[in-house]
Amino acid sequence: METNDHSSKKNIKVGIPRALHFYRYFPFWKKLLEELDVEIVLSPPTNKKIVEEGVTHGFGELCIPVKIYYGHVLKLVREHPDLDYIFVPRYVAEVKEAYFCPKFISLPDIIKILPEVPKLLNFEVNVKEFPIATSAIELGKELGRTQNQSLNAYREAQKYFDEYHKFLRDGAPVNHALRLVERDRPFTLSKKKHKGDIKFLLLGHAYNIFDTFINLDFQKKLQDQGVEVLTIENLPESLFKEPVIINKRLRNYWKHEEEIMQSIRYFLTKGRGEIDGVIFLISFACGPDSLISELIMRDMKVVGLPFLEITMDEHSGEAGLLTRVESFVEMVRRKKKKLTMDSKKKETIKI
Ligand code: SF4
Repeated sequence: METNDHSSKKNIKVGIPRALHFYRYFPFWKKLLEELDVEIVLSPPTNKKIVEEGVTHGFGELCIPVKIYYGHVLKLVREHPDLDYIFVPRYVAEVKEAYFCPKFISLPDIIKILPEVPKLLNFEVNVKEFPIATSAIELGKELGRTQNQSLNAYREAQKYFDEYHKFLRDGAPVNHALRLVERDRPFTLSKKKHKGDIKFLLLGHAYNIFDTFINLDFQKKLQDQGVEVLTIENLPESLFKEPVIINKRLRNYWKHEEEIMQSIRYFLTKGRGEIDGVIFLISFACGPDSLISELIMRDMKVVGLPFLEITMDEHSGEAGLLTRVESFVEMVRRKKKKLTMDSKKKETIKI
Protein backbone atom coordinates (compact mmCIF):
# COMPACT_ATOMS: atom_id res chain seq x y z
CA MET A 1 0.00 0.00 0.00
CA GLU A 2 1.25 3.45 -0.81
CA THR A 3 1.73 5.70 2.16
CA ASN A 4 0.92 9.39 2.32
CA ASP A 5 3.22 9.86 5.28
CA HIS A 6 5.64 12.27 3.68
CA SER A 7 7.32 13.10 6.97
CA SER A 8 9.12 9.76 6.96
CA LYS A 9 10.74 10.53 3.62
CA LYS A 10 14.06 12.27 3.33
CA ASN A 11 13.58 15.81 2.13
CA ILE A 12 15.22 15.69 -1.28
CA LYS A 13 16.64 18.96 -2.55
CA VAL A 14 17.05 19.47 -6.28
CA GLY A 15 18.69 22.43 -8.00
CA ILE A 16 17.31 23.68 -11.31
CA PRO A 17 19.49 25.93 -13.46
CA ARG A 18 17.51 28.94 -14.72
CA ALA A 19 18.70 28.57 -18.28
CA LEU A 20 18.05 26.78 -21.62
CA HIS A 21 14.86 24.71 -21.36
CA PHE A 22 13.91 26.38 -18.07
CA TYR A 23 12.17 29.01 -20.22
CA ARG A 24 10.09 26.36 -21.89
CA TYR A 25 9.46 23.52 -19.46
CA PHE A 26 9.85 24.92 -15.96
CA PRO A 27 6.10 24.77 -15.11
CA PHE A 28 6.04 21.07 -16.05
CA TRP A 29 9.24 20.24 -14.13
CA LYS A 30 8.14 22.17 -11.06
CA LYS A 31 4.79 20.43 -10.81
CA LEU A 32 6.30 17.02 -11.50
CA LEU A 33 9.04 17.37 -8.87
CA GLU A 34 6.80 18.93 -6.25
CA GLU A 35 4.24 16.18 -6.69
CA LEU A 36 7.12 13.81 -5.95
CA ASP A 37 7.81 15.72 -2.70
CA VAL A 38 11.00 17.31 -3.88
CA GLU A 39 12.24 20.68 -2.68
CA ILE A 40 13.29 22.84 -5.63
CA VAL A 41 16.11 25.36 -5.54
CA LEU A 42 16.29 27.65 -8.57
CA SER A 43 19.41 29.52 -9.59
CA PRO A 44 18.88 33.32 -9.72
CA PRO A 45 18.24 35.21 -12.98
CA THR A 46 21.32 35.40 -15.22
CA ASN A 47 23.82 38.09 -14.18
CA LYS A 48 27.31 39.20 -15.19
CA LYS A 49 29.07 36.82 -12.79
CA ILE A 50 27.07 33.82 -14.01
CA VAL A 51 27.91 34.63 -17.64
CA GLU A 52 31.61 35.12 -16.84
CA GLU A 53 31.80 31.79 -15.00
CA GLY A 54 30.00 29.99 -17.79
CA VAL A 55 32.28 31.50 -20.43
CA THR A 56 35.37 30.48 -18.42
CA HIS A 57 34.22 26.86 -18.28
CA GLY A 58 32.66 26.58 -21.74
CA PHE A 59 35.03 25.89 -24.61
CA GLY A 60 35.33 28.58 -27.29
CA GLU A 61 32.99 27.27 -30.01
CA LEU A 62 30.09 26.60 -27.67
CA CYS A 63 26.97 28.77 -28.13
CA ILE A 64 26.33 31.35 -25.41
CA PRO A 65 23.10 29.73 -24.04
CA VAL A 66 25.03 26.56 -23.12
CA LYS A 67 27.85 28.59 -21.58
CA ILE A 68 25.23 30.42 -19.50
CA TYR A 69 23.83 27.04 -18.42
CA TYR A 70 27.31 26.14 -17.13
CA GLY A 71 27.31 29.39 -15.15
CA HIS A 72 23.94 28.57 -13.55
CA VAL A 73 25.00 25.05 -12.60
CA LEU A 74 28.18 26.39 -10.96
CA LYS A 75 26.20 29.03 -9.10
CA LEU A 76 23.92 26.34 -7.65
CA VAL A 77 26.87 24.16 -6.73
CA ARG A 78 28.67 27.02 -4.91
CA GLU A 79 25.68 28.44 -3.06
CA HIS A 80 23.84 25.25 -2.21
CA PRO A 81 26.33 22.59 -1.14
CA ASP A 82 23.42 20.68 0.45
CA LEU A 83 21.78 19.87 -2.90
CA ASP A 84 21.14 16.17 -3.46
CA TYR A 85 20.85 16.55 -7.21
CA ILE A 86 20.99 19.01 -10.05
CA PHE A 87 18.16 18.50 -12.51
CA VAL A 88 19.69 18.20 -15.99
CA PRO A 89 17.16 16.68 -18.38
CA ARG A 90 18.11 15.11 -21.68
CA TYR A 91 15.73 16.24 -24.44
CA VAL A 92 16.16 14.06 -27.53
CA ALA A 93 12.77 14.08 -29.27
CA GLU A 94 9.42 15.38 -28.10
CA VAL A 95 7.68 14.41 -31.35
CA LYS A 96 8.46 11.51 -33.66
CA GLU A 97 9.36 13.72 -36.65
CA ALA A 98 12.03 15.97 -35.14
CA TYR A 99 15.03 16.11 -32.82
CA PHE A 100 16.30 18.66 -30.36
CA CYS A 101 19.63 20.32 -31.05
CA PRO A 102 22.58 17.99 -30.22
CA LYS A 103 23.53 20.27 -27.31
CA PHE A 104 20.30 19.26 -25.54
CA ILE A 105 20.82 15.63 -26.37
CA SER A 106 24.27 15.65 -24.75
CA LEU A 107 23.54 18.13 -21.93
CA PRO A 108 23.95 15.72 -18.95
CA ASP A 109 27.22 14.43 -20.43
CA ILE A 110 28.74 17.87 -20.77
CA ILE A 111 27.55 19.00 -17.33
CA LYS A 112 28.85 16.05 -15.33
CA ILE A 113 32.45 17.02 -16.16
CA LEU A 114 32.10 20.35 -14.33
CA PRO A 115 33.90 20.51 -10.94
CA GLU A 116 32.07 19.47 -7.74
CA VAL A 117 28.72 18.86 -9.41
CA PRO A 118 26.46 16.66 -7.24
CA LYS A 119 24.56 13.75 -8.75
CA LEU A 120 22.56 14.69 -11.83
CA LEU A 121 18.85 13.98 -11.86
CA ASN A 122 18.01 12.88 -15.35
CA PHE A 123 14.70 13.10 -17.16
CA GLU A 124 15.03 11.80 -20.67
CA VAL A 125 12.46 12.82 -23.27
CA ASN A 126 12.74 10.64 -26.32
CA VAL A 127 9.34 9.68 -27.72
CA LYS A 128 11.02 7.91 -30.63
CA GLU A 129 12.02 5.26 -28.08
CA PHE A 130 9.54 5.48 -25.15
CA PRO A 131 6.60 7.57 -23.87
CA ILE A 132 7.27 10.51 -21.54
CA ALA A 133 5.36 8.71 -18.75
CA THR A 134 8.16 6.11 -18.73
CA SER A 135 10.70 8.88 -18.10
CA ALA A 136 8.57 10.07 -15.18
CA ILE A 137 8.58 6.55 -13.70
CA GLU A 138 12.37 6.37 -14.05
CA LEU A 139 12.74 9.76 -12.40
CA GLY A 140 10.45 8.69 -9.54
CA LYS A 141 12.44 5.47 -9.10
CA GLU A 142 15.65 7.46 -8.64
CA LEU A 143 13.88 9.52 -5.95
CA GLY A 144 12.53 6.41 -4.22
CA ARG A 145 8.92 6.89 -5.28
CA THR A 146 6.52 4.18 -6.47
CA GLN A 147 5.29 3.79 -10.03
CA ASN A 148 1.81 4.99 -9.04
CA GLN A 149 3.15 8.10 -7.35
CA SER A 150 5.24 8.91 -10.40
CA LEU A 151 2.38 8.39 -12.84
CA ASN A 152 0.06 10.57 -10.76
CA ALA A 153 2.74 13.25 -10.56
CA TYR A 154 3.20 13.07 -14.33
CA ARG A 155 -0.54 13.48 -14.98
CA GLU A 156 -0.76 16.46 -12.64
CA ALA A 157 2.29 18.05 -14.25
CA GLN A 158 0.87 17.58 -17.74
CA LYS A 159 -2.48 19.06 -16.68
CA TYR A 160 -0.78 22.10 -15.17
CA PHE A 161 1.44 22.50 -18.25
CA ASP A 162 -1.64 22.51 -20.51
CA GLU A 163 -3.19 25.27 -18.37
CA TYR A 164 0.08 27.21 -18.62
CA HIS A 165 0.08 26.94 -22.42
CA LYS A 166 -3.50 28.07 -22.62
CA PHE A 167 -2.57 31.10 -20.53
CA LEU A 168 0.25 31.94 -22.98
CA ARG A 169 -2.04 31.53 -25.98
CA ASP A 170 -4.49 33.92 -24.29
CA GLY A 171 -1.71 36.50 -24.61
CA ALA A 172 0.28 36.22 -21.36
CA PRO A 173 3.95 37.18 -21.74
CA VAL A 174 6.20 34.21 -20.90
CA ASN A 175 8.19 35.99 -18.17
CA HIS A 176 4.99 37.09 -16.44
CA ALA A 177 3.64 33.53 -16.60
CA LEU A 178 6.90 32.05 -15.30
CA ARG A 179 6.90 34.48 -12.38
CA LEU A 180 3.41 33.30 -11.44
CA VAL A 181 4.52 29.67 -11.63
CA GLU A 182 7.56 30.37 -9.48
CA ARG A 183 5.44 32.09 -6.82
CA ASP A 184 2.63 29.53 -6.94
CA ARG A 185 0.13 32.17 -8.03
CA PRO A 186 -2.95 31.59 -10.21
CA PHE A 187 -2.73 32.40 -13.92
CA THR A 188 -4.08 35.93 -14.20
CA LEU A 189 -3.30 38.36 -17.01
CA SER A 190 -1.64 41.58 -15.97
CA LYS A 191 -3.91 44.64 -16.40
CA LYS A 192 -1.07 46.54 -18.09
CA LYS A 193 -1.15 45.46 -21.76
CA HIS A 194 1.52 46.78 -24.09
CA LYS A 195 -0.14 48.20 -27.17
CA GLY A 196 1.66 49.79 -30.07
CA ASP A 197 1.08 51.29 -33.49
CA ILE A 198 3.22 48.56 -35.09
CA LYS A 199 3.40 44.86 -34.33
CA PHE A 200 6.47 42.59 -34.54
CA LEU A 201 6.91 38.87 -34.34
CA LEU A 202 9.95 38.25 -32.16
CA LEU A 203 11.46 34.93 -33.17
CA GLY A 204 14.03 32.79 -31.43
CA HIS A 205 14.60 30.12 -28.84
CA ALA A 206 12.84 30.83 -25.56
CA TYR A 207 16.18 31.16 -23.74
CA ASN A 208 17.26 33.89 -26.18
CA ILE A 209 13.98 35.77 -26.04
CA PHE A 210 13.22 35.59 -22.33
CA ASP A 211 16.62 35.75 -20.63
CA THR A 212 16.56 39.51 -20.23
CA PHE A 213 20.20 39.75 -19.15
CA ILE A 214 21.76 38.20 -22.22
CA ASN A 215 19.37 39.89 -24.66
CA LEU A 216 19.76 43.25 -22.87
CA ASP A 217 16.02 43.33 -22.16
CA PHE A 218 15.27 43.34 -25.85
CA GLN A 219 11.49 43.03 -25.61
CA LYS A 220 11.32 46.09 -23.36
CA LYS A 221 13.42 48.08 -25.82
CA LEU A 222 10.81 47.36 -28.47
CA GLN A 223 7.88 48.13 -26.20
CA ASP A 224 9.49 51.43 -25.13
CA GLN A 225 9.38 52.42 -28.79
CA GLY A 226 5.70 51.67 -29.15
CA VAL A 227 6.03 48.20 -30.65
CA GLU A 228 3.57 45.45 -29.75
CA VAL A 229 5.48 42.18 -29.49
CA LEU A 230 4.23 38.70 -30.31
CA THR A 231 6.27 35.57 -29.63
CA ILE A 232 5.81 32.00 -30.82
CA GLU A 233 4.39 31.04 -27.43
CA ASN A 234 1.40 33.36 -27.96
CA LEU A 235 0.38 31.78 -31.29
CA PRO A 236 -2.44 29.23 -31.60
CA GLU A 237 -1.56 25.54 -31.33
CA SER A 238 -3.09 24.80 -34.74
CA LEU A 239 -0.19 26.59 -36.50
CA PHE A 240 2.22 23.93 -35.38
CA LYS A 241 0.44 20.85 -36.75
CA GLU A 242 1.65 20.83 -40.36
CA PRO A 243 5.36 20.31 -41.16
CA VAL A 244 7.03 22.94 -43.31
CA ILE A 245 8.16 21.66 -46.69
CA ILE A 246 11.19 23.71 -47.68
CA ASN A 247 11.53 21.99 -51.05
CA LYS A 248 11.30 18.43 -52.36
CA ARG A 249 14.78 17.51 -51.15
CA LEU A 250 15.14 19.59 -48.03
CA ARG A 251 13.33 18.93 -44.75
CA ASN A 252 14.12 20.46 -41.38
CA TYR A 253 14.63 17.97 -38.55
CA TRP A 254 15.19 20.37 -35.65
CA LYS A 255 12.23 20.77 -33.31
CA HIS A 256 12.62 24.46 -32.38
CA GLU A 257 13.58 25.55 -35.85
CA GLU A 258 10.50 23.78 -37.20
CA GLU A 259 8.29 25.85 -34.87
CA ILE A 260 10.03 29.04 -35.97
CA MET A 261 9.42 28.19 -39.63
CA GLN A 262 5.80 27.14 -38.99
CA SER A 263 5.05 30.50 -37.40
CA ILE A 264 6.73 32.35 -40.27
CA ARG A 265 4.74 30.35 -42.83
CA TYR A 266 1.53 31.43 -41.12
CA PHE A 267 2.39 35.14 -41.39
CA LEU A 268 3.37 34.68 -45.02
CA THR A 269 0.05 33.04 -45.91
CA LYS A 270 -3.15 33.18 -43.84
CA GLY A 271 -1.80 35.68 -41.32
CA ARG A 272 -0.42 38.07 -43.92
CA GLY A 273 -0.94 41.66 -42.86
CA GLU A 274 -1.24 40.77 -39.16
CA ILE A 275 2.34 41.87 -38.37
CA ASP A 276 4.54 44.71 -39.62
CA GLY A 277 7.96 43.11 -39.19
CA VAL A 278 9.98 40.20 -37.87
CA ILE A 279 13.05 40.15 -35.65
CA PHE A 280 15.04 36.97 -35.19
CA LEU A 281 17.32 36.80 -32.13
CA ILE A 282 19.99 34.17 -32.61
CA SER A 283 23.00 33.11 -30.61
CA PHE A 284 26.49 33.33 -31.95
CA ALA A 285 27.72 29.86 -33.01
CA CYS A 286 24.22 28.37 -33.30
CA GLY A 287 24.28 26.05 -36.31
CA PRO A 288 20.51 25.27 -36.58
CA ASP A 289 19.48 28.95 -36.31
CA SER A 290 21.93 30.24 -38.90
CA LEU A 291 20.64 27.65 -41.36
CA ILE A 292 16.98 28.64 -41.08
CA SER A 293 17.72 32.33 -40.79
CA GLU A 294 18.89 32.19 -44.41
CA LEU A 295 15.60 30.56 -45.47
CA ILE A 296 13.50 33.06 -43.51
CA MET A 297 15.36 35.99 -45.02
CA ARG A 298 14.57 34.72 -48.54
CA ASP A 299 10.86 34.34 -47.70
CA MET A 300 10.75 37.84 -46.21
CA LYS A 301 12.23 39.35 -49.35
CA VAL A 302 9.59 37.65 -51.50
CA VAL A 303 6.69 39.13 -49.50
CA GLY A 304 8.44 42.41 -48.67
CA LEU A 305 8.08 42.02 -44.90
CA PRO A 306 10.83 43.89 -42.99
CA PHE A 307 13.22 41.47 -41.30
CA LEU A 308 16.06 42.03 -38.85
CA GLU A 309 18.42 39.37 -37.57
CA ILE A 310 20.34 40.06 -34.37
CA THR A 311 23.16 37.80 -33.27
CA MET A 312 23.90 37.83 -29.57
CA ASP A 313 26.95 36.81 -27.65
CA GLU A 314 28.55 37.65 -24.33
CA HIS A 315 30.06 40.84 -25.82
CA SER A 316 26.82 42.32 -27.19
CA GLY A 317 26.72 46.05 -26.35
CA GLU A 318 23.71 48.10 -25.29
CA ALA A 319 24.39 51.16 -27.48
CA GLY A 320 24.93 49.25 -30.74
CA LEU A 321 21.82 47.16 -30.16
CA LEU A 322 19.64 50.16 -29.40
CA THR A 323 20.77 51.96 -32.56
CA ARG A 324 19.91 48.96 -34.74
CA VAL A 325 16.51 48.51 -33.11
CA GLU A 326 15.62 52.20 -33.32
CA SER A 327 16.49 52.44 -37.00
CA PHE A 328 14.57 49.26 -37.81
CA VAL A 329 11.49 50.47 -35.92
CA GLU A 330 11.69 53.82 -37.68
CA MET A 331 12.01 52.18 -41.09
CA VAL A 332 9.00 49.90 -40.45
CA ARG A 333 6.91 52.80 -39.16
CA ARG A 334 7.62 54.88 -42.28
CA LYS A 335 6.86 51.94 -44.53
CA LYS A 336 3.55 51.35 -42.80
CA LYS A 337 2.64 55.03 -43.02
CA LYS A 338 3.41 55.06 -46.74
CA LEU A 339 1.38 51.91 -47.36
CA THR A 340 -1.60 53.37 -45.49
CA MET A 341 -1.37 56.63 -47.47
CA ASP A 342 -1.04 54.76 -50.78
CA SER A 343 -4.11 52.65 -50.08
CA LYS A 344 -6.12 55.73 -49.07
CA LYS A 345 -5.15 57.39 -52.36
CA LYS A 346 -6.28 54.33 -54.29
CA GLU A 347 -9.64 54.40 -52.49
CA THR A 348 -10.08 58.09 -53.33
CA ILE A 349 -9.34 57.44 -57.02
CA LYS A 350 -11.92 54.63 -57.10
CA ILE A 351 -14.58 56.98 -55.67
S1 SF4 B 1 19.87 25.43 -30.80
FE1 SF4 B 1 21.64 26.78 -31.07
S2 SF4 B 1 21.61 28.16 -29.32
FE2 SF4 B 1 20.32 26.41 -28.83
S3 SF4 B 1 21.62 24.98 -27.76
FE3 SF4 B 1 21.65 24.40 -29.92
S4 SF4 B 1 23.42 25.46 -30.78
FE4 SF4 B 1 22.95 26.42 -28.81
